[in-house]
Amino acid sequence: MADSKGQLGYTSSGITKWPNPVHALPDELLSSLLIRAGFQNHIEPMPLAASIWGKWRAWVFDIDRALPKVPIQQLSYSTGMPVQQLKHLTLKPYIRYISSVKLNAKQRWFWVTSLAHRNAVRRSSIMFCPQCLLEDAIPYLRMQWRCSWITTCHEHHCVLLDRCPHCEYPIHPHRYSFNISSFNRCASCGDRLDELKAPTKTHTEIAQQQQHGFHLMRTFDDSADTWFAELKFLLGFVRKSYSSQLKCAQSLCNAFELAPRPQQGLSPFGSVNFPDLTLNDRHILLELAFRLKALSTTDLTSLLLSHGVTCSLFKSDSQHTPERFDAISQHLKRMDRSRKARSTTDAQWPPPKPDDQVQRKLDVLHREIRARGR
Ligand SMILES: [Zn+2]
Ligand SMILES: [Zn+2]
Repeated sequence: MADSKGQLGYTSSGITKWPNPVHALPDELLSSLLIRAGFQNHIEPMPLAASIWGKWRAWVFDIDRALPKVPIQQLSYSTGMPVQQLKHLTLKPYIRYISSVKLNAKQRWFWVTSLAHRNAVRRSSIMFCPQCLLEDAIPYLRMQWRCSWITTCHEHHCVLLDRCPHCEYPIHPHRYSFNISSFNRCASCGDRLDELKAPTKTHTEIAQQQQHGFHLMRTFDDSADTWFAELKFLLGFVRKSYSSQLKCAQSLCNAFELAPRPQQGLSPFGSVNFPDLTLNDRHILLELAFRLKALSTTDLTSLLLSHGVTCSLFKSDSQHTPERFDAISQHLKRMDRSRKARSTTDAQWPPPKPDDQVQRKLDVLHREIRARGR
């Protein structure tokens, strides 16, 4: 059925305009706005989605990443907000700007944390800062809390959380109800999410760098592509360092006086993709990557040389090397015998691994299987 403007027949899916208008808060995520708007219009998330989209099961999708064309038009009709404004409550326009590869709606995006789910039940979670929720006049979820390079709050210099501190339940915006209708409470146990007594403090510089990247992305800054390309490259290097036989990452962490890290000779992160890693694992990788990123080209070169980093450890065959790091790699040692040495080692049975290491590997494997089941 066409409306008075001859456009799509939104009324056919039972859509009605909401009497109470809604306004997005600074950096607010689409799902957060929707849930708040629903309660403002006396409707819970599940029936809210049905009233906007009919049978289209919105909460099964990651609507904070992007909304398809027709659903976003339907939402525009219900909320009275222009389509362009709604698009900018999703991550897609910004992530597209900073990504070196084309975004695929069915695949993970490197710079967005993955939300694996089955039948609208998500196992992964949106991150949050308890202190931000405490200080909010209206508690809401921010876009920063879905960005994979962000693990800290730049306002409160603490590490974010991604689980209820009382029952460990992940944050699912659509699980809120009239009984528990505010984001400062856990949708599962109802306890407060904003009453953490001892948040894990982080170095101010890390929080500032993470927010700086967010600012570059949100303002479509010209330097954003270089900034993110360098960070992605360094994350690749840090991961390789953790899996190297040289215990290179540990030695670099010591140089920056970072807290004790996982000690395993092989990567403690397995083959899990960066956006699927736990908040804690991402934080470990990012802390070191940002320390390296902050160094001048001369200082970084000296540091890598003094820790015996070779060209093959620093550079990746599968990843683009930013100009600055390509220049640095020219100064690093080249190890022609490494391939031969490795094949000799591979020919021997490795010694048994400790139980905790095996369990950790199993955990990351399970997470990846769940993430792929999206
Ligand atoms: Zn905060
Ligand atoms: Zn809880």
